Amino acid sequence: MMVKKVAVIGAGASGLASIKCCIDEGLEPICFEKSEDIGGLWRYNNNPEDGRASIYKSVIINTSKEMMCFSDYPAPDDFPNYMHNFKIMEYFQMYAKNFDLLKHIQFKTTVCSIKKSQDFSTTGQWIVTSEKEGKQDTTLCDAVMICTGHHTFPNLPLSSFPGIEKFKGQYLHSRDYKVPDIFQDKRVIVIGIGNSGGDIAVELSRTAKQVYLSTRRGAWVSNRVSINGYPVDIAKLSRFLSTIQKLFPTLLNYFAEKAVNKRFNHGNYGLLPQHRYNSQHPTINDELPNRIISGSVQVRPNVKEFTDTGVIFEDGTMEKNIEAVIFATGYSFSFPFCEVIDVTSNKISLYKYMFPYNLEKHTLAVVGLIQPIGAIMPISELQCRLATRVFKGLIKLPDKESMIIDIAKKKFKMENRYVKSQRHTVQVDYVEYMDELATLADVKPNLLRLFITDPRLGAQVLFGPCTPYQYRLTGPGKWIGARDAILTQWKRIIKPTRTRILQSSTTDTSITMILIVCSALMILAALYLHF
Ligand code: FAD
Ligand code: NAP
Repeated sequence: MMVKKVAVIGAGASGLASIKCCIDEGLEPICFEKSEDIGGLWRYNNNPEDGRASIYKSVIINTSKEMMCFSDYPAPDDFPNYMHNFKIMEYFQMYAKNFDLLKHIQFKTTVCSIKKSQDFSTTGQWIVTSEKEGKQDTTLCDAVMICTGHHTFPNLPLSSFPGIEKFKGQYLHSRDYKVPDIFQDKRVIVIGIGNSGGDIAVELSRTAKQVYLSTRRGAWVSNRVSINGYPVDIAKLSRFLSTIQKLFPTLLNYFAEKAVNKRFNHGNYGLLPQHRYNSQHPTINDELPNRIISGSVQVRPNVKEFTDTGVIFEDGTMEKNIEAVIFATGYSFSFPFCEVIDVTSNKISLYKYMFPYNLEKHTLAVVGLIQPIGAIMPISELQCRLATRVFKGLIKLPDKESMIIDIAKKKFKMENRYVKSQRHTVQVDYVEYMDELATLADVKPNLLRLFITDPRLGAQVLFGPCTPYQYRLTGPGKWIGARDAILTQWKRIIKPTRTRILQSSTTDTSITMILIVCSALMILAALYLHF
């Protein structure tokens, strides 16, 4: 049976990529979006909406524009490397307009259920029930892409905090935090030191009377602004470093910890965790140490219990007259509308975090359900490229047993590497996971061939940042502009900061020099191993 009509649920970053990839593969996407516009999480609203992720007004992305863009659509060169949420929306709107995606989206339409059709084992079709303005409708679809995000439903672990029921102050989840104004001159506790906790503590500390940042295990804190002022993902997420990390994880932990401790000693700042650098989802925050050293943020251990007006921490210390508590305790995810996907405490069994392994026909994919060390958007996009070709039967997934083994291996690896926490259930390393998808989709660049045929490009692909364009150099969906996008990426990175033009600068030369030296070392090593 030929797959044609594909239901895309959600029009955030993952949904937009799904629509585009369906069109590229000659499929007919029909996208259902419960809100009135595209953008998902990145479309700020003063009031949190049910069933859609909600962000605070000041959110600036922590993945840089060259690493977060879609692989055949670089962000404009004058866009900042780390965009504010309104700028991300501008980028998504440009993308949607450029590829004419909006006409495929039904806004204000919520998907209530997706069920296998009666003859699913032969057709692989799904019955999608949606609701618009109180009216229900059903659509028979050949395939489904679930793009509903995983930062929507708050994890509010009140049962872990005895006494919260008698606490007289205000408490809320970070999803409901919007602006700092209402906390002016107040004594506030922020619980959790993920990126939400870090950002909110810093923001509040400028106007609140005192901010306490409570963490049960501490964190290694990295900067957005990295070596030579380049974005941290640009400096760190290369194929070369990813290989080193795989071969020598302890060594990389050692250097990463040394580097962040050089900036500020994590022990002296109350943040030192017991785990290694790579055992926790990264906390990225340029300002936290500045706020701690000025005393406006005090780092404290976990909360043992609340009193009616204060809090007792696990080390026995106490703070009275606490007026507000912000639980920056992360998110839970689930797919209540889909009968074939089970989730327990954020644990899910999907092949490559995408495909239910036990379906008779592989006509359903979850997109964007990963927590990468890196950006979600290009990963979602590559997942879509893979899914659409699986739907069409151009790529065959392995048998059920092989998928179960792959899922189990991934779980085992994750549990061994990360500290046990509900936030570490869908972790992936950007380069490794992208390469895994790319191998299945037959779009992984061949490094050896590149070094022989186009050494300049080869050096960038190996030692430079692993930008999404690398996955458009070859194979199905090859983009003619990919080579140029890679060779000009450094210019786009520098352009928005170099706004006062100087006569001479050494930056470009230093990057070229690094690449030349690394390539020379590689060639020498290859020759040495050969002879
Ligand atoms: P979403 O953006 O959540 O979009 C899902 C869409 O589905 C929404 O529009 C929603 O209305 C719709 N929907 C949901 N249910 C239904 C339904 N039943 N029927 C119809 N429509 C439905 N990621 C990064 O890569 N870099 C970052 O720096 C980064 N910063 C973040 C900052 C914060 C504060 C948070 C919370 C997350 C951040 N993330 C970041 C992760 C973020 O989830 C992704 O960037 C991205 O938004 C995921 O896109 P998505 O399309 O998968 O999901
Ligand atoms: P998160 O990463 O899941 O962090 C949750 C924090 O709460 C962790 O410190 C966790 O500690 C703690 N916590 C959870 N349950 C707890 C409990 N019962 N008691 C005490 N502490 C508890 O959530 P998040 O910070 O909201 O981030 C969600 C996603 O959004 C991440 O991908 C993040 O990178 C992204 N984000 C990005 C930005 C940005 O780009 N500027 C800003 C915010 C968020 P443990 O580690 O001990 O579990």
